[in-house]
Amino acid sequence: MTPRILFPFLVAICFASSAEAALSRAEQTMIRTVDAEQLRTLAMLESWVNQNSGTMNVAGVEAVRRAVEPEFRQLGFTTEWIDMKAAGRAGHLVARHTGSKRGKRLLLIAHLDTVFEAESPFQRWVRDGDTAHGPGASDDKGGVAVIVTALRAMRAAGTLRQANITVFLTGDEEDAGSPIAIARRDLIAEGKKADVALDFEPLAHDNGLEMGSTARRSAGSWTLTVTGRSGHSAGVGSPDAGFGAIYELARILDQFRRELPEDKLTYNVGLVGGGQAADLDQGKIRVQASGKTNIIAATAVARGDLRAVSPEQIERVRARMRAITAQSLPGAHAEISFDEDSYPPMPPTAGNRALLARLNGVNRDMGLAEMGELDPADRGAGDISFVAADVDGLVGLGTAGGGTHTDKETADIPSIFKQAKRGAILMSRLAAEHR
Ligand SMILES: [Zn+2]
Repeated sequence: MTPRILFPFLVAICFASSAEAALSRAEQTMIRTVDAEQLRTLAMLESWVNQNSGTMNVAGVEAVRRAVEPEFRQLGFTTEWIDMKAAGRAGHLVARHTGSKRGKRLLLIAHLDTVFEAESPFQRWVRDGDTAHGPGASDDKGGVAVIVTALRAMRAAGTLRQANITVFLTGDEEDAGSPIAIARRDLIAEGKKADVALDFEPLAHDNGLEMGSTARRSAGSWTLTVTGRSGHSAGVGSPDAGFGAIYELARILDQFRRELPEDKLTYNVGLVGGGQAADLDQGKIRVQASGKTNIIAATAVARGDLRAVSPEQIERVRARMRAITAQSLPGAHAEISFDEDSYPPMPPTAGNRALLARLNGVNRDMGLAEMGELDPADRGAGDISFVAADVDGLVGLGTAGGGTHTDKETADIPSIFKQAKRGAILMSRLAAEHR
């Protein structure tokens, strides 16, 4: 062996032994258990992925629930199925493990559903080396697999016994049931009881580096409705006739675009229509509009969304949208309304950042690189946001992958095991602390 070859070999050995030295005996047992159970974990995930559970496929979501539930029962969890027919969805699976009375209470969040409905052509798990293709392979059946694998490792190491853990698996994360007040009632209640919330949605990357997520932005929609004085087009712009509804709509949207932008905020217009008539359908995704070029438009409507990082930001931006809307052109009148069924933001609080610091402690002890903080603009809304007002949380403890929400979705197989090890050690350390 030449030194040139020996050197990286020695580095690898030193690296491994120093990492192991920082881990307790129980933590080393967890790492060995995850590695020993790799085939079991993959077979479990493959079977879940091959069962369709598009959000609207209620029977499919229930079938995944029946496959997942015994995993938690085997580990000594009690399970509960919360029916969500009242919100037009399948339901949520909740699994509870009671440990030490004084120990911190952990809430683990993931979901059973995927965006791929029963009629989607994308239905099967296909493995290609270290990559698994499949609906939900990473979002979020991969995340549920990380949870089960981590908990099994904790049991093997003896750290599960004292742990207070509630696992909340929603059946409608990709398209939350309505009203939200019912669809998220039970998750919000669990958040109020918990000391820490961990979200097992996919691990985020930035420039190839693994990132921690301490924040998620909100998601909410708005509707802008404008009425104008109709009349002969020859008079448009005159004090009598005014400008009509479409010019007024255009004024407002353009002013939004120029005046609203600020850090961590995005604002989108997704749908517009106007004319003599413009009717939004019930689902608010279609407009039926009719009009003539020689008639001043009587009505116009637009739908869009707004994503922000804090309740203060949402309120500030909404107030500006209302003010802009109120400055009507002559002869026009506009109103803006904000949908009630929206996802709240999860701001990057000091408590959330402290959790990322704890995870980085685990990374250091495992000999892994520390993780930076992901820009919340790079991440969509999610279920953990519903508990963010009540409990510190950390996002992205699930599988790494790509192409989520497309038929190119993949899971990076080694990341399932790496995340399970990180998760098991982090949860064991947190659960051992007093409340
Ligand atoms: Zn997801």
